[in-house]
Parts: sequence; C-alpha cells; structure tokens
Amino acid sequence: AVLADQIAAGEVIERPASVVKELVENAIDADSHEIDILVEEAGLKSIEIIDDGSGIEADQLALAFRRHATSKIDDRKDLFRVHSLGFRGEALPSIASIADVEMTTSTGGEGAVIHLAGGKVISQKPAEARRGTDIKVRDLFYNVPARLKYMKSLNTELSKIVDIVNRLAFGHPDIQISLTHNNRELMRTAGRGDLQQVVGSIYGMNKAAKMLPISGSDADFKVSGYVSLPELTRASRSYMTILINGRYIRNFQLSKAIIAGYGSKLMVGRYPVAVVNLEMDPLLVDVNVHPTKQEVRISKEDQLSKLLTVTIRSKLSEQNL
Ligand code: ADP
Ligand code: MG
Repeated sequence: AVLADQIAAGEVIERPASVVKELVENAIDADSHEIDILVEEAGLKSIEIIDDGSGIEADQLALAFRRHATSKIDDRKDLFRVHSLGFRGEALPSIASIADVEMTTSTGGEGAVIHLAGGKVISQKPAEARRGTDIKVRDLFYNVPARLKYMKSLNTELSKIVDIVNRLAFGHPDIQISLTHNNRELMRTAGRGDLQQVVGSIYGMNKAAKMLPISGSDADFKVSGYVSLPELTRASRSYMTILINGRYIRNFQLSKAIIAGYGSKLMVGRYPVAVVNLEMDPLLVDVNVHPTKQEVRISKEDQLSKLLTVTIRSKLSEQNL
C-alpha cells in the first residue's frame, strides 16, 4: 500500500507547493475561518498548516491517511457534483508516504495526535487541542532522492508556494489566511469577505485601488471580480486568476477571453491583472480530469468566454477607456 501511495504521490505531489495546496484545501473544506501556513526552507524542511476547522474524530484519524478514504463523497454520482475542493482521498496518504507527518486534531473535545513516517503509523495518542487541525510535514521527499534532485532553487520553490497560496486566498476572501516563511510573514488576508481587500494584501493596496469591479451574468453563468485598468498591465500572464465556484483553475480559452475584453487597449505581450470568479452549476464543470484538479472541462465554454469578454469590455467602456 505504501508503494501505491508513493506512485499516487508522484502524480499529486510534484513539489512543496503541491503539499501546501492539498493541505490548505483540506483546511478550507473543513470550514475553517483562519488558516496559518508556516514553511521553512521553501517547504523542503517543514510545512505546517494550522486551521480552526471541523477537526477529525480520533477514531477516524488513521483512516484519513488510507488511500481513497475521503469523507467528502458518498457515492460515485457525487463525483459529478463536487462542491468541496478535495474528493479523491489521495493527498494525506500520498504526503505521508514521502515525508514525516504529525497531525494534531480535535473536533472540540479531547483531541488526538498521530505520527506517521514512510507512510506507516508510528503512534497515535490523545492530545490537548483546541478545535481544528495542526499538521506538520517534515523532510519532504527524504525517501525519494530522485524527486529531491529535481527541485529547483529554494527561491523558485518558495515562489510556487506563494503563488498557490495567493490563488487560494483569492477564492476564499472570507477566510483569514497567512503565509510565513522562515519566521517572516509574507502575507495575511483579513478574512472579511472583501475580495478587493485580498487583492490589496497580495498585490498592494495601491494597485487594488486601481482595479475595477466587474459583474455580469446570463442564464448559466455569473461573472464577478476585479480587473485592472489598461494602464496597469504586466509582462506575464500569471497575474490573471480564474476561479470557478471559488476553485482556482487554469484554462487557456478563458484567459484569452479576459485579454479579449481589453481589445486593442492592451499592448502586445502585456497582460492585465485580474481576479475573476465564475459561478455556475457544478454539473457544468468536470473537475475530475487531472489529479491536481487544476485542469477542468466546462460545458458551454464558448458561451462563458463570450460573457467574460463582454463583461470586461462593457466595464472598460463605461469608464470611457
Ligand atoms: P480528500 O480531501 O480528497 O477527501 P485527503 O487525503 O486530502 O482526501 O483527506 C482525507 C480526509 O481527511 C478528508 O476527506 C477529511 O475527512 C479529513 N481531513 C483532512 N484534512 C483535514 C482538516 N484539515 N480538517 C478536517 N478534516 C480533514
Ligand atoms: Mg484533500
């Protein structure tokens, strides 16, 4: 079973940022209001995620680290109406198979702490804990030297962590999220449900103040979010964030639709800063395309692209831009 977990880990856990993504998504799925992310040495030394969510019952704790043990899907039909971020039950066993993991958790009463190494449970004991979960992942890839060799510089690995935390924060303005690296706080959102505030925490308040709120809808889709004035552009596409029902996704056609909204106001090779949330019936999205869940298939993608372009274009022209 440990071998199967390591194979799954190869797909789900590419680098420290993948661990951060999976664990923060678990904290979000647990209805947390506050999530603190602490990493050392770009996550290769340690990653700790502290949340104030539902916690896990002591008698379910070891089970959560078993493959395909998800509490989020009751039967296969549910796969097509996925609301939660996680649903494959692969992350915890995958991570535990390639790192040293300690999780302390409580649902409100007495808590428990479990320790795993190399995918095996070493110990589980009762523990004093407030409601929520604290998971520590140390020495990632210690038993997968080949993977460790492929790690880029610490700066690159850290920037991937920052990037994924930012995107998760954009999708959840109602959750207070902080990221600390080697004891230095890199970002903190207010958790007040205000997307512009989150954009400000991440890109700077001055830039956030220069962004325009957008909103549009048709029978199937609702578009909202913030897009930059044409004067605030970047040389990289990576300042565009697309969320579907709060989930960060990557989609080439939808990125092009954002750019198309600017028409000729955008110089070649320049891209807007944008955080766009697309709301739709989950039945219209298939998130079960890739283990990392970032690639999705959308029904009526052309209709959605058009709505997105038109929504941005009409906002800009309303501003006489
Ligand atoms: P998935 O998220 O796909 O269900 P995971 O391996 O990520 O699978 O997690 C397994 C299970 O452990 C989850 O279904 C959930 O019940 C529980 N769990 C994991 N992390 C947390 C957390 N931070 N708070 C509460 N429950 C959690
Ligand atoms: Mg998960």
